[in-house]
Amino acid sequence: MKCGYCGHEFAEEEGIRGCGKCGKPGRCSMVRCPKCFYENPPELKMVKRLKSFLKKEKS
Ligand SMILES: [Zn+2]
Repeated sequence: MKCGYCGHEFAEEEGIRGCGKCGKPGRCSMVRCPKCFYENPPELKMVKRLKSFLKKEKS
């Protein structure tokens, strides 16, 4: 996924999940960019599928 703030691309697993510091009730599902710590909303499964589909088309 791509950070909406600094544009750094990273795997969702690389991001910092469930920060627990932003005050959101329950489990925070935001994914923090490992570079700038901006909170990105998690990518939707449909978007992921679409992206992998586009990659296949290119190569
Ligand atoms: Zn958070």
